[in-house]
Amino acid sequence: MKYIRQRVLAAFAILALAISGCSTHETADTIFINGTVYTVDEANPKAEAVAVKDGMIQAVGNQQDILKFQGDDTKVVDLNRMTMTPGFIESHAHMMGVGYNKLEIDLMYVKTYDELVEKVAEAVEKAEPGDWITGRGWHQDKWIEKPDNMVKGFQTHEKLSAVSPDNPVWLRHASGHAAFGNAKAMELAGVNNLSIESLQGEVEGGEIIKDDLGNPTGIFTERAEGIIGKLVPQETEERAEQALELAIQECLRLGITSFHDAGSGQAYVDRLLRFKEQGRLKIRTYTMLTGTQPELLKEWADKGPMIDPDHQVTVRAFKLHTDGALGSRGAWLLEEYSDRPGHFGHETVPMERVGQVALMALESGFQLCSHAIGDRANQEVLDQYEMAFNKFPDLNPKDQRFRIEHAQHLSLDDIARFGEMNVIAAMQAIHMSSDRPWAIDRLGERRIVEGAYVWQKLMEAGATVANGTDAPVEPLDPLPSFYASIARKTLQGTPEGGYEADQAMTRAQALKSYTLDGAYAEFEEDFKGSIEVGKAADFTVFDKDIMTIPEMEILDTKTMMTVVGGEIVYEGN
Ligand SMILES: [Zn+2]
Repeated sequence: MKYIRQRVLAAFAILALAISGCSTHETADTIFINGTVYTVDEANPKAEAVAVKDGMIQAVGNQQDILKFQGDDTKVVDLNRMTMTPGFIESHAHMMGVGYNKLEIDLMYVKTYDELVEKVAEAVEKAEPGDWITGRGWHQDKWIEKPDNMVKGFQTHEKLSAVSPDNPVWLRHASGHAAFGNAKAMELAGVNNLSIESLQGEVEGGEIIKDDLGNPTGIFTERAEGIIGKLVPQETEERAEQALELAIQECLRLGITSFHDAGSGQAYVDRLLRFKEQGRLKIRTYTMLTGTQPELLKEWADKGPMIDPDHQVTVRAFKLHTDGALGSRGAWLLEEYSDRPGHFGHETVPMERVGQVALMALESGFQLCSHAIGDRANQEVLDQYEMAFNKFPDLNPKDQRFRIEHAQHLSLDDIARFGEMNVIAAMQAIHMSSDRPWAIDRLGERRIVEGAYVWQKLMEAGATVANGTDAPVEPLDPLPSFYASIARKTLQGTPEGGYEADQAMTRAQALKSYTLDGAYAEFEEDFKGSIEVGKAADFTVFDKDIMTIPEMEILDTKTMMTVVGGEIVYEGN
């Protein structure tokens, strides 16, 4: 019904444009003029200006057409020739992970101990006395120079403690096997040269590193981390709200207007609903319920999907995790790993469970999204989907839009099945860029060429490929992933010509994968994902024309404006 109404509206608006000159159109709330607008609407791919009324797109056209919608109260936004696209849709990432990362200091790119100390000093300035300051990702072997004072291969706490006398500091090592605290943190935990021996005795398999005089240096390894780690405030609801707030801000800063969360629980959904009610949820969300909580899926299957008429908090998918990753050789393969004979990886959930959840999803109107990376996992999941579809002959499998998350490595025979069953491949182009240089060791030349990150083959088979980043695994910024989609290179621009370049997306395909195809992957393509009359006024504005600039320049492009439902929710400079 709504679909029909939108089409009627569209027809009406086209008519209105056709008879321009006569002043019958309603005035717009906002007009965006003087832009380079890529609409992702095949019938009308480029425009200069857009008129918005009540959060929806009222007209799309050239400057003259749209100026006719200007009334006394119309806000006029001059895009100054910048590039506007439909709002970007992140189709697979983890909202709370993105937020929690922002609550901590990121030490991954720190090059010296002094730089680490500087970052902590900045955080101390913003903190209240007594607040814990936490961070992660430091690695002393990656520093370009070592501090003068090292004990057992690690730095010592004095400089760190000097910049943070009143705030306990706790910084986790990149490996996850050690952490670094300051004097305040050690004081709170009762760690000093008198207590160190007895504490050490309590932590089998861990070490409190001490200097020649027997003083703790601030480094705690393995199980000794718990001595201080247990004092760090746990994930309270207050902290979760803070994280969500930061994640939303991060989305808007990066031009993301819709976000598919790849696996969360009830507390997350409740938090989104609360944010919506309080007017703090500035983006649109789509949630996959995590299959790690079987009772959660059961409960939702009983009550059915929650489809938000306001298009802000929709819960309509189940998420399953069926194998590991290629890096750790956990991805489940049909043939052995090239760099570990006899090893095939493994499934992380019994396949019968995938079948059961697929049936439950079909019965209750949910979409199923299964994480599968290796070709065996992909094949087995497709088998389970097929089996489930066969049990519901009255349902058209194509309407179910089941998804496979990542779909990184596929057997040639299975590629066509994505098209046949209309299984959406939710892929993160940036993973290709980051992983392809070493993934060839795992899979070898033939398998890489035939079936790894085969975006073009999937699209040729009729499958929808939705794009994203899997943040916080990769940074949330869609532009590096957009770049990877078209260049198939590392972010350093290597290799020349790209990896398996015949699988690169065109820019138009890449833009669609990040907009309209993302909308399709959440059943929202009639509402958003392209700049068409009657659709939501969700836009992203970039300072450069990402559809024409040399590909390397995409990585220097900035988001200048993010618009959700006609409201400018972010402006860059
Ligand atoms: Zn993920």
